[in-house]
Formats: sequence, structure tokens, C-alpha cells
Amino acid sequence: MLLEVSGLETFYGASQALFGVELSVGEGEVVALMGRNGMGKTTTISSILGLVRGRAGTIRLGGKAISGMSAHRIARLGIGLVPEGRRCFPNLTVRENLVAAARKGDWTLERVNALFPRLSERRDQYANTLSGGEQQMLAIGRALMTNPKLLILDEATEGLAPVIRQDIWAAIRKLKSEGQSILVVDKTLSELLPVADRAFVLEKGQTVWSGKPADLTSELQDRYLGV
Ligand code: ATP
Repeated sequence: MLLEVSGLETFYGASQALFGVELSVGEGEVVALMGRNGMGKTTTISSILGLVRGRAGTIRLGGKAISGMSAHRIARLGIGLVPEGRRCFPNLTVRENLVAAARKGDWTLERVNALFPRLSERRDQYANTLSGGEQQMLAIGRALMTNPKLLILDEATEGLAPVIRQDIWAAIRKLKSEGQSILVVDKTLSELLPVADRAFVLEKGQTVWSGKPADLTSELQDRYLGV
């Protein structure tokens, strides 16, 4: 497995948010992390990235324990995040944003531009003048420029127009076909499940279900994900 999370417990001060999360992502897999609001998806991702520190459990990337490492070091080991609410440098152009993120590897400006032709069209525009969808594409492009072994998308399509959402899902499918490992959180199950190889469901900070999307029956969806 590329990423293996086991028995993860994370606290915010005295308040426990994760109570034993189990999660794994294999090489080239797209894995969905699901659960209702407040069940611990973002906290799990923050723990993997070293942004908050787990108090118990293990997190391994490529077999190497990364729990306790600084966020900076974990990022350099090959985890690229597309954060909720997309964070780009507003006063840099599209091209400058991408170049600023670049690390040695297969991803180049040309390759990002081929994945998202809109970014190529807007290369000299300041990031703060882009539409929400274009900013999201830029956030994904920035994460890819770091050549991540694992790409993590946290609500990457939230609040975007349907046409743009489709562009983003098309890009995710393309990345998958190229063997990119991806962990994805998204509320739109009808778009997420067809792309995912496996899924994990969190409830109250614990993994309560994992398996293939086809086995996540509508009864299970109602139980764990219904409103
Ligand atoms: P959403 O879909 O709403 O983003 P989520 O599944 O990502 O939800 P988390 O944001 O991980 O859930 O929240 C898990 C629990 O941790 C919740 O009870 C939440 O209130 C709590 N929590 C999250 N962030 C903090 C924080 N910075 N300080 C204290 N408690 C927090």
C-alpha cells in the first residue's frame, strides 16, 4: 500500500475527533473517503499531512512511518493536497502560481496545461481574477506540480457549476488512467463513486465501512451518508 493509516486517534486540545481511523490507498488507486459533516474526514486528512498530530495510531507512506513528522517534510515525501476552499497566491499569475509549486519530476507546465486547457488560456491572468472553477483547476495544477505520489482532494468540486465539475472529474479520471494515486473527499456520491476503486466511510471519527463502491448499497448509503 502507498498510504496506510491504522488506529488513528486525533484530538483538538482535550476534545477527541478521531477514535481509530483505518484507511489505505494502493498504488494507482482512487480511494473515496466519505462520511457526513463533522465525522472526521478533514481531520483525517490534516493528520496524514502532519497539520494536526495524531495521538495514537500509525500513518505510513510507502511503508515509512510519517506520523510525527513536520508537515513540510511530509509534503516533500510526496503528498500533494488540494485544500478545501482552494488556496492559490492571489497576486501571482496562473503561470507563476504553477511555477512556484514546481518540484523535480514528470509534471511540467505543459502537462498541467494539457490537463486543463483553460489554465493555458489564462496563463497570464492573476489568480484572484479567475472563476471559482478555474481557481480549483489551478489548485489541482499546483498540487500536481509538486509531483505527489499521493494526491489528496478535499471537496474539490464543492460549489462549482456543473460544467466545471465535469471538467474536474474528467481530469481526475485522466489522472487515474495515468496511474496517479488519489484520495478524494466529495459530497456528490453519484460523481465520486463511479471513479473510486475503493471507499472508506467515517462515522464519529471511526472507520465504520470499507469496500468497493458497488458494495455500498443504497441502504448503507442511507445509514452512513444520508441526511
Ligand atoms: P465536513 O464535511 O463538515 O468538513 P468532516 O468530516 O471533514 O466534516 P472534521 O472537520 O474532520 O469533519 O471534524 C471532525 C470533528 O472534529 C468535528 O466534531 C469537529 O467539530 C471537530 N473539529 C474539527 N476541526 C476542529 C478544530 N480546529 N478545533 C476543534 N474541533 C475541531
